[in-house]
Amino acid sequence: SKPVVAIVGRPNVGKSTLFNALAGERISIVKDTPGVTRDRIYADVTWLKHEFTMIDTGGIEPESKDIIISQMREQAQIAIDTADVIIFMTDVRQGLVDADAKVADMLRRSKKPVVLVVNKVDSFEKYMADVYEFYNLGIGDPIPISSSSMLGLGDMLDQVIAHF
Ligand code: GDP
Ligand code: MG
Repeated sequence: SKPVVAIVGRPNVGKSTLFNALAGERISIVKDTPGVTRDRIYADVTWLKHEFTMIDTGGIEPESKDIIISQMREQAQIAIDTADVIIFMTDVRQGLVDADAKVADMLRRSKKPVVLVVNKVDSFEKYMADVYEFYNLGIGDPIPISSSSMLGLGDMLDQVIAHF
């Protein structure tokens, strides 16, 4: 079967925007229990003849910081349990925050391959200097992307398929 790639990260970093940018036509929603954060969406993606299944996690907007943290743990756990490669998304506009470090710890312990992306780098000139702080997560080289402008996605996908 095809490799599975999961996208994890805090709410509003742009996971669903990336997912929709890459998704092919077949998108399916898997709901476990209504209102539970484990709902996830699958899509088939082809990149340079490599086919994989992508999972978007965290469809529900959390209402408090505690819920954000628990939802991120849940997402990271889904990714760790089911994915062959994990895209860990952060946001250059908000910078590196505690919740990012918590997820990075979980992912690192899992020993699964992680591709660290820094989203919302809509302009390299303007934001590139802010990308370097994400090296502090200790989970690899941060790859700058813009999901909404489709920038850097080729470099990101090259890193992803290198782990298949
Ligand atoms: P999710 O909660 O991680 O799934 O994030 P969404 O995909 O729902 O995006 C959250 C917000 O960030 C939306 O308003 C998006 O339009 C915006 N966004 C996503 N990607 C980018 C990007 O590359 N650049 C900018 N400037 N905004 C983005
Ligand atoms: Mg989303």
